[in-house]
Amino acid sequence: MSTTGFEYEALPGRVVFEPGGIDRVRTEAERLGSSRAAVLAAPEEEAWAQRAQATLGRLVAGRIDRVRQHVPEEVAEAAREQARGFDADLLVSIGGGSTTGLAKAVALTTGLPILAVPTTYAGSEMTPIWGITAGARKTTGRDLRVLPRTVLYDPELTVTLPPALSAASGMNALAHCAEALWVPAANPVIDALAEAGIRALAAGLPRVVEEPTNVAARAEVLLGAYLAGCALAAVGTGLHHKLAHVLGGTFDLPHAEVHAVLLPYTTALHCHEHPEGVERIARALGAPDAAPALWELAHRLEVPTSLAELGLSEDQATEAAKLVTENGAQAHGDVELVLHQAMIGEPPA
Ligand code: NAD
Repeated sequence: MSTTGFEYEALPGRVVFEPGGIDRVRTEAERLGSSRAAVLAAPEEEAWAQRAQATLGRLVAGRIDRVRQHVPEEVAEAAREQARGFDADLLVSIGGGSTTGLAKAVALTTGLPILAVPTTYAGSEMTPIWGITAGARKTTGRDLRVLPRTVLYDPELTVTLPPALSAASGMNALAHCAEALWVPAANPVIDALAEAGIRALAAGLPRVVEEPTNVAARAEVLLGAYLAGCALAAVGTGLHHKLAHVLGGTFDLPHAEVHAVLLPYTTALHCHEHPEGVERIARALGAPDAAPALWELAHRLEVPTSLAELGLSEDQATEAAKLVTENGAQAHGDVELVLHQAMIGEPPA
């Protein structure tokens, strides 16, 4: 990154961040001109969906509750049909990245606007990136039609997110911030934002794990997740996300946990080529070295710390290395090194 010249494209969107803000969902839907809202939420997100539906009242045109991780094509198609059947004019997604992802898949072909109410730290609500899985392959793309028009952040909705999921989801957000600091599109605006995001996440996550109902700690982590989503949206992704994407999409490994496992190793890999970015991570963590500090944070948060623990076999790791390097953009040796270390979860070299 150079401070003498850079490009940065700000994205549009309204953000409301407020404990208890779920009760403003109707006002926000009306602000978008809606009179027929389709509410998307997974069965695990039922309590929040009910609360939103009660507030939305007569604005609710129908409910879509078939949500799957990584948005299988047939699930996306079924949701599109439901939205058409409801004659919906707005998609209100309440849930984690999988629910937001489903709303995006619907918006992609219908052009319907999205009001997103996130309940995890995935950050998808801030990005124009969509992902759909057909067969074993996940395809992603960028389209402004899928960028939520309004995002309603209510930290109270995240208190039910179990500590283990909170920790993994928070490490996923931290990975968005970290990678934003070393990708080619890195710029000073996003550097500042990503560093602030890492600081908030690293400070808030241990508090959230110890005391999951602490709304102030939840708010700190949710703010970090919001900044992480902005960073991801603005500068895109690199090797870390490519690896996570292949491991999640091809071998059906849990998305957030894969990010948590990989992060110390992908950070170690970047410390020579992008020392400034990696130093920023260390500064935000209050540690001399970023990679070991991330490894220690993962252990402290008790997230999974090896790919073997997530069920990846040696053969699958070899196949993943091939898939990640097939377009020639990544050095096979680098990818193998990251995968080898992440497979056993050893301290980062
Ligand atoms: P998720 O949405 O699959 O949620 C994990 C589980 O937690 C689900 O069972 C969900 O129902 C449950 N849950 C959600 N909120 C809860 C709450 N408050 N209390 C209790 N349970 C709750 O997982 P995720 O990590 O949020 O999202 C992962 C997905 O998001 C992946 O498919 C990933 O590719 C995608 N993603 C996309 C982008 C993007 O920009 N397009 C960015 C980040 C993640």
